[in-house]
Amino acid sequence: MNNPKDLAPDTQIVTAGRRSEWTGPVVNTPIWRASTHLYDSCDDLIQGVKRGADHEFFYGRRGSPTQWSLADALTQMELIHNSSKDQNRDAAQTSIANIAHGTLLFPSGVAAINIALLAVLKPGDVLLMSDNCYDPSRGFADGLLKKMGIETRFFDPMMGADIATLFCDKTRAILMESPGSLTFEISDIPAICKAARASGITTLLDNTWATPYFFPALSKGVDISIIAATKYIVGHSDVMMGAVTCAKKDWLRLRQTARQLGQIVSPDDAYLASRGLRTMAARLKTHEQSAVQIAHWLDRRDDVKTILHPAFPSCPGHDIWKRDFRGSSGLFSVVIRGDKKRAAAIIDDLNLFGIGFSWGGFESLALLVHPEQNRSTTHWTEGNAVIRLHIGLEDPDDLIADLAASFDKHKE
Ligand SMILES: *Cc1c(COP(=O)(O)O)cnc(C)c1O
Repeated sequence: MNNPKDLAPDTQIVTAGRRSEWTGPVVNTPIWRASTHLYDSCDDLIQGVKRGADHEFFYGRRGSPTQWSLADALTQMELIHNSSKDQNRDAAQTSIANIAHGTLLFPSGVAAINIALLAVLKPGDVLLMSDNCYDPSRGFADGLLKKMGIETRFFDPMMGADIATLFCDKTRAILMESPGSLTFEISDIPAICKAARASGITTLLDNTWATPYFFPALSKGVDISIIAATKYIVGHSDVMMGAVTCAKKDWLRLRQTARQLGQIVSPDDAYLASRGLRTMAARLKTHEQSAVQIAHWLDRRDDVKTILHPAFPSCPGHDIWKRDFRGSSGLFSVVIRGDKKRAAAIIDDLNLFGIGFSWGGFESLALLVHPEQNRSTTHWTEGNAVIRLHIGLEDPDDLIADLAASFDKHKE
């Protein structure tokens, strides 16, 4: 058998987590539906409780091979760009064990983010949150965290290493989102993580947009990598799920918090997420290519003001994206000329773009977004008619024709 670390990322995405003791003779790890796991003897049960190990039968709340297989694959995803061919083998082995130790699964992306925060914060702490963070993360800061006596301070996503000027004795953690999922600024994650590590502060990144395929967060210095698997992992708009991956140093406190809060995903959902993952590399390449083509087309229109897509120089942090990322996914925003009314009319008249939350599925979506309402320390000055597009797997020429018809019908 090849050393998995010598295989290319696309190959690893296909093979990861498919241990023969879990799959048996079939390709996909089957759906193990269970609450009760049965023991051979009373002593066997006592020994099992004592070990409390991952990937061992215990009780339904600790999952079964269906969930373990997915978690294992997602852990390996953080390592797919660390080929041992490129490094001194011994050094590679040790550093890899220190990068990604395991993955915890949650019933939604929001649960994954918020429970990871609960695991690292305690009353009296200060959390730094990037000002482009996703609205439910801001809501959690203002809700439960505040009630627990944890203060959240928002920072400019473009401040990079200068974040150290905001540190105080109580600063315990930093939550980042790069790119921001409405406005797409790319933060200097390695610089922020370096500053945080020097001060003993834990860094968490919502890496839903890029996934580890385009941005291997843990290898770039992040302590805790979080994704809404609902999006590109599942890929078919039919399952909610979140995942948190980290190194050994943070593993026990995260696992303990998740266990205490009874977090579990169903084997049926884990099965669908594993199935989605197998085609993710192929899907992401198509999302990327079509989104870039459509963004270029939009960029040439007089009635479009700014393209907020990390692969475009008009996007804040574009140079950092070029330095750190291996690609771009299918989600970006456009600031159009005109007002929100024009933006809404354009969206309403699209035929191939659904109107709805979430993204990462095979289908295209359009949404009127309101970044001006989601800012605390920075100001949104790009204009308020912002349309966020998710480019699906349809033929991009059909999508362009659909956009052209609606943009032309609603001239500024
Ligand atoms: C969708 C999303 C989430 C939340 O995921 P859910 O599974 O919908 O709870 C978190 N972060 C980002 C950037 C998202 O787009």
